[in-house]
Amino acid sequence: MLGLSCRPAVVDEGTDETVERVDQSPVTPPEGPESILHLSQQDQEISLAVALGEEWGQALLKELVEQNSGTLNIEGVTKVGAILERELTSMGFETHWEHPEVNERRAGHLIAHRSGSSYRILMVVHMDTVFETGADGSAFSIEDGIARGPGVHDMKGGIVVALSALRALHHAGELEGSSITFIAIGDEESPAQPLELDRKILRDYAEQSDYALVFEGRDDTHPGIVTGRRGISSWELFVTSGGGHSSRILTSELGAGSAYESARIINMLRTELVEPGLTVNIGYGAVGSQISDQQSGIVVQGKLNRVPEQALYKGDLRYTTFVQRDDAQKRMQAIVEVGLLGTVADIRFMDLYPPMEATPGNENLRDLMEQVSLMLTEEAQPAVDPIYRGASDACFISGTIPVIDGLGPSGGGDHSREEYVDLSSITPSATRTAVLISRIFAMGC
Ligand SMILES: [Zn+2]
Repeated sequence: MLGLSCRPAVVDEGTDETVERVDQSPVTPPEGPESILHLSQQDQEISLAVALGEEWGQALLKELVEQNSGTLNIEGVTKVGAILERELTSMGFETHWEHPEVNERRAGHLIAHRSGSSYRILMVVHMDTVFETGADGSAFSIEDGIARGPGVHDMKGGIVVALSALRALHHAGELEGSSITFIAIGDEESPAQPLELDRKILRDYAEQSDYALVFEGRDDTHPGIVTGRRGISSWELFVTSGGGHSSRILTSELGAGSAYESARIINMLRTELVEPGLTVNIGYGAVGSQISDQQSGIVVQGKLNRVPEQALYKGDLRYTTFVQRDDAQKRMQAIVEVGLLGTVADIRFMDLYPPMEATPGNENLRDLMEQVSLMLTEEAQPAVDPIYRGASDACFISGTIPVIDGLGPSGGGDHSREEYVDLSSITPSATRTAVLISRIFAMGC
């Protein structure tokens, strides 16, 4: 049985049609001799079209990497968007830009869409990189099948995989009547604030789609499909206490001071918050008579013979689900509230990124991708443990519709001069994606 019934094509801008949510929908292909997971004539055509596009894909990768698109290089990100528009309009997509009303200046997000009657697929990439103009990162090069350059893996290689898959589907005639929305985010690496507003576009389009595919690169050290990523909150711990001569530390008169109290708290964070998927990191901190936290760093005053009145520590908390976050924050709060003699502590949290919760819908979509992969190349596609991956835009989609991530090419060294892509992985990645999309189309109507 299929998990979804056919529904109208994606709601276009300006209409207010409501669409039911399809969270956790199973992705179950039919069984038996008609199984859609047998290599068909159509699959072979798609595979051939991807392979024939290899040269085109490499030229596109070079063009994309050579166009600097650091997040704050608005002209550069816009030019990358223009390259994407050129390719997507040639495949029958209509494009437009969206500019969220955020506090910081960014290039905006490119949306490409085509309407049809298939299940609605949302494809997500980002156009920006961490390499601002003149920043670290050398020019594009290829040697022994390895491409290097700023943003080549994160995520210009992912853009090439996504477009190669679409181009092959286009050549095989599979895009006719299909419903696909392609979102190219302009500020993934340094999102404008408030983040919720900047990324509302992803939530909105996810609600108007049935399945989502995100093209962050595949990590060579932990290969597989990403079905979950951890969310991130920051925390700040403030401790105050009475001060005085060091000779009276730990007496009933003066108490423990801020240093011992903050050490107690920090040690308990280490010993008490131990569970799979959860980490509490202390980024930096200080203890002293007076602490001022400035943008350039913490300034501390204190004396060897003085009991410190203040402590300040900052760090992050990473979690796999909102339930785990809430529970961890409650436990941290409880640890802080105990308090050694003469001290007062306070901890505050701020959410930075929601988790991509590993929902059953995500797992089912991964399973379908694995079956496609086994059929094509006999390669398993296990779920990557969320602890090995940072946040991505998939975090804003998961929980609304089934989503999988890490569909870009193999490579690594992200955000460094060592960034690379294994060019031989582009065609298999694009073929898997294209056949997966055609399978999803085949399940509809
Ligand atoms: Zn990325």
